[in-house]
Amino acid sequence: MKKVVKFGGSSLANAEQFKKVGAIISEDEARRYVVPSAPGKRFADDTKVTDMLYACYDAAVKGEDFSGLLGNIQERYQEIINGLGLEFSLADDFALIAENFHSKAGQDYAASRGEYLNGKIMAAYLDTAFVDAADVIRFNEDGTFNDEVTNELLGARLSELHSAVIPGFYGAKEDGTIVTFSRGGSDITGSLVALAVKADLYENWTDVSGFLIADPRIVKNPKSIETITYKELRELSYMGASVLHEDAIFPVRKAGIPINIRNTNAPEDKGTLIVESTCRQPRYTITGIAGTDGFAAITVEKAMMNSEVGFCRKVLQIFEDNGVSIEHMPSGIDTMSIFVNKESFEEKEQKILADINKSVHPDHIELESDLALIAVVGRGMKSTRGTAGRIFSALAHAHINVKMIDQGSSELNIIVGVKHEDFKTAIRALYEIFVLTQI
Ligand code: ASP
Repeated sequence: MKKVVKFGGSSLANAEQFKKVGAIISEDEARRYVVPSAPGKRFADDTKVTDMLYACYDAAVKGEDFSGLLGNIQERYQEIINGLGLEFSLADDFALIAENFHSKAGQDYAASRGEYLNGKIMAAYLDTAFVDAADVIRFNEDGTFNDEVTNELLGARLSELHSAVIPGFYGAKEDGTIVTFSRGGSDITGSLVALAVKADLYENWTDVSGFLIADPRIVKNPKSIETITYKELRELSYMGASVLHEDAIFPVRKAGIPINIRNTNAPEDKGTLIVESTCRQPRYTITGIAGTDGFAAITVEKAMMNSEVGFCRKVLQIFEDNGVSIEHMPSGIDTMSIFVNKESFEEKEQKILADINKSVHPDHIELESDLALIAVVGRGMKSTRGTAGRIFSALAHAHINVKMIDQGSSELNIIVGVKHEDFKTAIRALYEIFVLTQI
């Protein structure tokens, strides 16, 4: 059994957290390949080391004295080293980093040092091999990621090692230039390592016990999701639920490796298992509820629209030509509504309206802003009658007017559009009916 374990920044923010991580790793000998992030926040208004590095490098680029800022970063690491009682020094590394900052080695190089240094400490603490991600995670000359070469390099290097620490977030071009993934990218590294070593499981350790059924900022103490499929996850992430970097899913999904989201601060919790498919029935009819605010709807009305060939295409073309992405498109017999991100629409609003008038001569165009969309997602909906009925009665009881309804043909989700001011009440009402009052 082989497991790849990735630990996020809050799991490695100080020596105390490192000790929890050490205990988790030593508890299961299958946890052989470790991918650490840079130290994250130790308390709510603390600064992540990655952000400190960006700020420090900014100062270097401006020609300012950055020694104080770099000194603060070094202190963060020294505190961890001291707290773990290690005979280990990063002095040479910091001297080299200072030199490279002076010679402006690049922002990605700067940011990557957070993971690099944390990885070195982790390898010393676990007494295992350190593999520099620059040697095994490959980017192309144009900065895009090269999955094939990476898989070969990682696979070959790690096959020689029973266990290893591979820092997350970065890799390098063939000439050694460091390139990072986007923020939160250590999740991707974990996934690539899992693919390369053909792991049985990719454990992603963070500070929450997996995905929650609803946003905890809206619903008090929501229950967590035990098992979720990749498709359900995609639906919920689209609507704003996020724990994992989206690009981390593809490599493991392709190889059929499940991801287990776990909580470093509550290792006894099972967390959430993300799988391709499962016959495990979810505990509730729905798997999760997620929503996003900030939509606008443009409703185009024209008598006999349904018999006018090409009407929809012409309207959609206008949005495409103006570079505005369409989120949803519910339609009536003589109306079609187009839901778009309000911010991206606002800039082009008058131009788009003029284009619609010119192109399809509608009877009327109605604009509505400050809308929110809420997705109720769950594979359990397919086999259950009355889900839509329960959604609407819950919203009606909460005195919420539904502006739009959209059920995907896979029966995996039902999306409802509500006014911005009803957004939170609607999510609470849905959580209550599906989770709290479900027998
Ligand atoms: N340290 C990087 C960030 O803060 C990458 C990561 O933590 O995954 O975005």
